[in-house]
Amino acid sequence: MWSKEYQMLTPYIDSHCHLTDKAFDEDREAAIQRMKDAGMVAGITIGCEDGDIKPLRAILDAHPGFLFGAWAVHPEYPELREADVDEIAERANEPGMVAVGETGLDFYWCKEPLDWQRDRFRRHIAAARKAGKPLIIHARDAESAALEILREEKAGDLGFVMHCFCGSLETAEGVVNAGGHVSFTGNLTFKKNEALREIAGKIPLERLLIETDSPYMAPVPFRGKRCEPVYSREVARAIAAAKGLEFDEVLLATAQNTVRLFRLPIAV
Ligand SMILES: [Zn+2]
Repeated sequence: MWSKEYQMLTPYIDSHCHLTDKAFDEDREAAIQRMKDAGMVAGITIGCEDGDIKPLRAILDAHPGFLFGAWAVHPEYPELREADVDEIAERANEPGMVAVGETGLDFYWCKEPLDWQRDRFRRHIAAARKAGKPLIIHARDAESAALEILREEKAGDLGFVMHCFCGSLETAEGVVNAGGHVSFTGNLTFKKNEALREIAGKIPLERLLIETDSPYMAPVPFRGKRCEPVYSREVARAIAAAKGLEFDEVLLATAQNTVRLFRLPIAV
């Protein structure tokens, strides 16, 4: 039985999860039902490689108007087939698809020379421009380098979110100034991440999104468990505490921001 607290019905949205991941093979539909039971009005689920395309299509077709998708070959995967601009743009315009990504730079898992990664990133930005869709940015140990490319490519015109943010205040402000959004995961709730909460406290609420990046990064008090979209509310709770706002206000505002950025065809 789901706990009572999770039956409050302020609408909210997980702006970034991976529901096609095998970690959901045992209870995928139950996890989606728990989202609906908790008052969630949408979730954006991301595919990161060719193998995700079919399951992503299937899950979007099974939950139209509730689950939305994005696809791009992840910057962590040098060895995988990279689609061309036309193919990525076409995919981004399929029913239920709302963005290109995740894309960006990863200097944590991958080491220089990384020209292939920068080329892939620029290709994804070109595809987003062709499709007229916003971008979902992954930047790990590479936040300022990713921001530089986003500025050069004028990605603010398309709209973008730097997801699972764990960079500096300077970069977060740079994202906002470039027309982007900042999204926090469960890492915002981790005890050691006081500096990140200070950053969350300083970024305007209208540019913040919440996410789980599930099945990874379960927030406190679920840390160590398989993460799922319904837990994204714990990220809103941490933002509310950092900003001195009401929890419900942050749930609703981040849902509205997500609808606006990704032009989701739903009302919140
Ligand atoms: Zn992700």
